[in-house]
Amino acid sequence: MNILSRCLMALSRESRMSIKDATFSSEGALFYTVVISSSTIEQMVSECLKAGVNETGGILIGSYSEDSSTAMIVEATTRPADSLAGRTTFQRGVRGLRPLLHARWKTGLYYVGEWHFHPGGSPEPSGDDFRSMTSIAANPDYQCLEPVMIILGGDPAGSYSLSASVFPRGDGPIRLREVLI
Ligand SMILES: [Zn+2]
Repeated sequence: MNILSRCLMALSRESRMSIKDATFSSEGALFYTVVISSSTIEQMVSECLKAGVNETGGILIGSYSEDSSTAMIVEATTRPADSLAGRTTFQRGVRGLRPLLHARWKTGLYYVGEWHFHPGGSPEPSGDDFRSMTSIAANPDYQCLEPVMIILGGDPAGSYSLSASVFPRGDGPIRLREVLI
């Protein structure tokens, strides 16, 4: 092992240990901000590490600001056991989510959207991703007018990146950009 790869290893260890909250905002007329807590990012990274070469995902739990322009995500669940996952597909199951959401609701936290993993790929949403989020926004069972989608792409053990999009009911998707503070 040469000095450069030792340095890179140290760097990736360092960045894993110091995961910070991430903030994403819209640039257009409609103003949306999504804040993802560092522990949520850690939960997603650890699920992706377990999934290996397969996609995985779950739901996002959090709360909204009073004017509902900002979603604060505080939890990314593990993959429900009845999910279907392959190398380039993921269909989230539902097992266990109802009691979990009920318990969170008692503490003022709600379903705010979905997250999933593109192993070794970019975090760009696919056509299927757009379609499934649009149907969630339109589905009254979710009681979520503006679901958020977070995708983790790349290598969860090294260099990975996140994308964030909002799907307002009856409107086109809005891609958010990371705000680097
Ligand atoms: Zn996807």
